Amino acid sequence: MFHENNCPRCNSNAVVAHNYARKLGGLVGTIAGTITGLKGSRVSGDSLSSLATGLIAALLGATAGCSAGTILGSALDDNVLNNFQCLRCGHRFSHPHMAPVQPALPEPWEQN
Ligand SMILES: [Zn+2]
Repeated sequence: MFHENNCPRCNSNAVVAHNYARKLGGLVGTIAGTITGLKGSRVSGDSLSSLATGLIAALLGATAGCSAGTILGSALDDNVLNNFQCLRCGHRFSHPHMAPVQPALPEPWEQN
């Protein structure tokens, strides 16, 4: 995946983003969200509907956890870790001067 930023050392635009924290954050968030969703659903008895309720709660928790973890991971990648690497000279760098973490979804006022 090529990033639109140029390497600060050689100015090449062949730059990749590793996104390690983003991937890890998404994974951890998914697991934590699944557990939270299962705990919160309070499955009682062994009927099919309570099983379905538990599964839906787990899925919702996983989705929310993945989103939150990905956003946190993105902030770490962009501001703390040397997330970007130049394919030409191998230089690793971060972009602390970049705009704050972009939301995953367009803002409501941008949808029209
Ligand atoms: Zn470079």
